[in-house]
Amino acid sequence: MTRGADTELVVVRVDRDRCIGSGMCALSAPDSLALGADGLAAPLADFADGGAELTDGLTEAVDCCPVEALTLHSARGGYRIDPAD
Ligand code: SF4
Repeated sequence: MTRGADTELVVVRVDRDRCIGSGMCALSAPDSLALGADGLAAPLADFADGGAELTDGLTEAVDCCPVEALTLHSARGGYRIDPAD
């Protein structure tokens, strides 16, 4: 995959104290999030570590989480991208 110099790579953070394991995010963004053995959401490797390109499904996952447990952050700067502050 070729990435442009200005591509914003994102990491996903799951507030595990909030997550209720509804699975909505894993349905919206199965390439980014999955439910772990403990029943709570966890980002897949690329979205947990180095960061990966933002997808529409990931934005939808953040929007549809019923307990606002998901946030997207810049992989380089660490600042929050979504939801906006
Ligand atoms: S949509 Fe929210 S509450 Fe449901 S599994 Fe994902 S992070 Fe957890």
